Amino acid sequence: MARILIVYTGGTIGMKKTAQGYAPVPGYLQAQIEALPPFQSDGMPAFEVHAFDPLLDSANMAPRDWLRIAETIRDAYAAYDGFLVVHGTDTMAFTSSALSFMLDPLDKPVVLTGSQIPLAETRNDAQGNLLTALLLLEQYAARLAGVFLHFNDRLYRGNRVTKVNADAFAAFDSPNVPPVGTAGINIEIASEALRPRSPEGPSPDDTAPAVTALGDATVAAFRLFPGLEARYLANVLAPPVQGVVLECYGSGNAPHANTDFLEALREATARGVVIVDVTQPLYGTADLELYATGRALLDAGVVSGYDMTTEAALAKLYYLFEQGHSTDRVAALMQKNLRGELTPPEEEPTSVGKTRRRLARYRQR
Ligand code: ASP
Repeated sequence: MARILIVYTGGTIGMKKTAQGYAPVPGYLQAQIEALPPFQSDGMPAFEVHAFDPLLDSANMAPRDWLRIAETIRDAYAAYDGFLVVHGTDTMAFTSSALSFMLDPLDKPVVLTGSQIPLAETRNDAQGNLLTALLLLEQYAARLAGVFLHFNDRLYRGNRVTKVNADAFAAFDSPNVPPVGTAGINIEIASEALRPRSPEGPSPDDTAPAVTALGDATVAAFRLFPGLEARYLANVLAPPVQGVVLECYGSGNAPHANTDFLEALREATARGVVIVDVTQPLYGTADLELYATGRALLDAGVVSGYDMTTEAALAKLYYLFEQGHSTDRVAALMQKNLRGELTPPEEEPTSVGKTRRRLARYRQR
């Protein structure tokens, strides 16, 4: 039987209807879990709950809360085989992205989950999400390592997910990589994500990961829109900001005919601000070589974040600045795959890469 620590941070999943609307109430989620027979049934792992005080709506979470989660996992690391972080859905993708950089090396699974409807409601997605996450950990804890997010019968890489639906039970997706696992009749995880079965394979290392605190660097995210005035962008790029995730159009494009706009970017990168281009569409990658509009950004010192989510790019900027790297080094590492958070161009599926190259040749004519 696997030993699992549930780190309960808050979120809709454990909320109770109060006169002021849904709110987290201490002990309420634990009491319901104890009262529900499926959580006590055979096949479940042994689990204990460590609850945050106060419990948080994840909209109120900040990097200091990521640190509390990471430190709780570090401090309890040797005593458990896996960790289930119960979390609000609103910023869960930010937390899972951040934890994937903060905990290193990580030889055990950390899975985040939550729900769209509280466990206390008759019809809910909370019971399924919690039970499946626990059963998944029971089955795979010894063979899985890293940060993941489980929701609606899918297991995703923690730094590839984004919240895509405010209403549906399928609230998350990892648009640019397939889910790592699927729960149907069986709970199945892709073999590439698993270490070989013991006794052939090594067992998880009990040495606690080091924790990097995030939040000291000044980073920001900014979405382009038609009509954006360069002076607004200049405000975002003004000191003390060190890194900005710029959500650009399509393949990472921006209005290159707007010289004031380009000048604002050039001036900021010359001052050492790292500007990372990600794409606004959910699917696909920023490719700054493809269009003149993208090339102009490269010339202004902007670097490509390829297919990173904004959540992962922000977490990575925080993390790299925390390491004390020079600006150039941060810019270089933003384009490298450190924790599976991006697909470098040379690793793009061949058909996509081929089409992109053909299009690039056509554009150059
Ligand atoms: N506002 C809630 C939260 O993120 C929403 C949820 O859990 O679904 O904490």
